[in-house]
Amino acid sequence: MGGAATGGVGGGATGGTDGGVEVVPVDALTATVRDIFAAAGCAPAEAERVATDLVGANLTGHDSHGVVRVPLYVQWLRAGYVHAGRSAEVVTDGGAFVVLDGRSGLGQTVATEAVALGVRRARAQGSCIVALRNAGHIGRVGLYAETALTEGLISLHFVNVARSALVAPFGAVERRFSTAPVAIGVPLPGRPIVLDFATSLVAEGKVQVASHGGKPLPPDALIAADGERSGDPRVLYGDYADADLRSAANGTGAIRAFGEHKGSGLALVVELLAGAFTGGGCAGPPGGPPGIANGMLSVYLSPEHFGTREEFERIGREYLDWVLSARPADAAEPVLAPGDPEARTRAARIAAGVPLPASTWAALRRTAAELGVEVAAAG
Ligand code: NAD
Repeated sequence: MGGAATGGVGGGATGGTDGGVEVVPVDALTATVRDIFAAAGCAPAEAERVATDLVGANLTGHDSHGVVRVPLYVQWLRAGYVHAGRSAEVVTDGGAFVVLDGRSGLGQTVATEAVALGVRRARAQGSCIVALRNAGHIGRVGLYAETALTEGLISLHFVNVARSALVAPFGAVERRFSTAPVAIGVPLPGRPIVLDFATSLVAEGKVQVASHGGKPLPPDALIAADGERSGDPRVLYGDYADADLRSAANGTGAIRAFGEHKGSGLALVVELLAGAFTGGGCAGPPGGPPGIANGMLSVYLSPEHFGTREEFERIGREYLDWVLSARPADAAEPVLAPGDPEARTRAARIAAGVPLPASTWAALRRTAAELGVEVAAAG
């Protein structure tokens, strides 16, 4: 397994160290993660896909959904919460719509299958709706919108995490929603839009990243059981040592829903669409089997089939340019479109490598060592 060189944190595959941050070349990081998943029981193609998707999240700047998840994914595989080599099964096939059961297969596998099916049908018939339930963690949802964009399709994705209440509704201090993300891709020529966010004020992974010494949370991202707003990850995870896996079961607080009553309302309907309508289950009430289960309701639309592609592209692009021409509040900060920050970060990190908090890199190396995987050498 893996490449030739091993080394301590700051050596081996790293391209450099910068104040507690390891800068790891993309190829070396992908190879390390791929080898870990191969050693954990994935076939080569699946191990490659999981590695590419997780590193891909780091490339877009969403470190919360990148390789920081590797130790937890491996733990879930070991515990039997998710299964290597498992495909999604068709529950209902209505032609224009399909219901799929991910059967606790790895999210990167079953969501990729679901998206491929939705894209194929929308390319053939103009639209398709795919309801996926019981998927392992599917990671950065924007990835699936990007896949549809490469085929010229608009897509909307509503996602929840069954039995994983972490987010307090507007006006509450108790957890009732998952972080219930939404992603929407709009294929405007030369500037595709990828809107992709959690309906919580921050994604849970961002609390994890902050707890590992990465980017701190906004001071009002969390709410403690006594109603006090906080940016301290311990509100969600309780006390932890640096090397501990973070568990929200140990904390008493919640993440706040974004956008006050409007974001909270959006989170509620995302739970209903992705959890109740798909049949996979909502964030609660508590109970049911342990583990991770994403639900995803996806809608794919082909402007070409609707006969509106030319107008859509012309009017849409003209409108976007006008939106982006709005005078910036800060002259040094240009107005951006959703998807721009990710595209920029991706270009920069492909060139320079992926910066990881030293503790994330150390956790990855520990997981590799436990599985007898040597960390691949850079270059
Ligand atoms: P976020 O708050 O960073 O928002 C990202 C969105 O805002 C992107 O569309 C981005 O292009 C846009 N954006 C950022 N800065 C902008 C600017 N200056 N101008 C215009 N647009 C801008 O995202 P988040 O809520 O932290 O979510 C992070 C990731 O977590 C997402 O990829 C999401 O899919 C993922 N997630 C996954 C799950 C799951 O269960 N699989 C759950 C929750 C979140």
